[in-house]
Amino acid sequence: MKIVVLPGDGIGPETMAATLETLEAASSRFGLGLAFDHDVAGHDSLRRHGATVTPALLEKVEAADGLMLGPMATYDFKDEAKGEINPSKFFRKELDLYANIRPARTWDGLANKVGAFDLVVVRENTEGFYADRNIESGGSEMLITRDVVVSLRRITRACCARIARSAFELAMTRKRHVSIVHKANVLKIGDGMFIDECRKIAREFPEVRVDDFIVDAMMAHVVRAPARFDVVVTTNMFGDILSDLTAELSGSLGLGGSLNAGRDHAMGQAAHGSAPDIAGRDIANPFSLILSAGQLLGWHGQRRGLPAFTAAARAIEAAAAAAIAEGEATRDVGGRLGTAATGRAFAQRLAREPALAGA
Ligand code: NAD
Repeated sequence: MKIVVLPGDGIGPETMAATLETLEAASSRFGLGLAFDHDVAGHDSLRRHGATVTPALLEKVEAADGLMLGPMATYDFKDEAKGEINPSKFFRKELDLYANIRPARTWDGLANKVGAFDLVVVRENTEGFYADRNIESGGSEMLITRDVVVSLRRITRACCARIARSAFELAMTRKRHVSIVHKANVLKIGDGMFIDECRKIAREFPEVRVDDFIVDAMMAHVVRAPARFDVVVTTNMFGDILSDLTAELSGSLGLGGSLNAGRDHAMGQAAHGSAPDIAGRDIANPFSLILSAGQLLGWHGQRRGLPAFTAAARAIEAAAAAAIAEGEATRDVGGRLGTAATGRAFAQRLAREPALAGA
């Protein structure tokens, strides 16, 4: 499996270095034959190539089997005409990575105020309230007069249907429960269509229980009783916000792994941003990116029918649970190690953990 590796901005280089150690350990332990192609995106690319991402990089990613994208300083990138393109948007749109799969679960040994839970937010990734990806040319946020802005949201039947299908297929491998999150009381037409398409797909999955929640109330429900949720499907912006909340409820935003998946391509990417407030201090939690890498291996294994990859993905999650329980983790999750030491210890754990032998 050939993986393009783009460390990203802020804490990206630190967390990606730890993740690469993990992937190398998983590759030798499970005989995955991983090959890495290192390149740059974000500020490094802007300095080197005059743009945060380039057509040559896209070609390289298209030819590879997967992409690991570090967090990006998206807020810094204001003007596409100056090469300041949001790399997350670029890959999601160009590779049609429509399903953003963001698991959140509690971990043994990690104090938690809301009780044990294990859920997955399935977020639509290619349209919605994202001004940079829902129209073909130009942005969908407009300055009408100096004092008036209009921001457009695009919702299409096709995109609703395909994200709903991802959610229901995932639910079939879990507790067979899908919760639709929306704001159809106000966004009556767009979110009305989203619910309609989800309910239509639901008919193909009669074993799956379905309910729906208005997004504002969902914030309360997920804090009050997160254990009642299994798979949560929602539109782009709501999913982005909700998944930061569920990651933090699980113990830390630094545990928020995510996979951006389409039909032909996938990208592992932490749910959080470049965290400039902690960059360069060896305290960022690398598990968000490590867990994302595990998801990428799992996707590849499932798509190509390669059990070693599926086993490696499971082993990464199991080893993360053990590492967190034993404090071989960063301080945000009560651990005693820095970012680099967490990555090193995790790679060693993957290589030696006897429980993983038949994973
Ligand atoms: P952030 O997600 O970077 O950080 C929010 C808070 O969580 C900070 O206190 C940070 O220290 C903490 N945090 C984040 N990751 C952590 C980790 N691995 N371990 C421990 N703590 C962690 O959000 P922000 O500060 O609002 O944004 C910073 C930049 O990231 C902005 O430019 C924003 O646009 C960008 N951003 C990018 C992505 C992405 O690349 N997918 C996502 C969100 C934000």
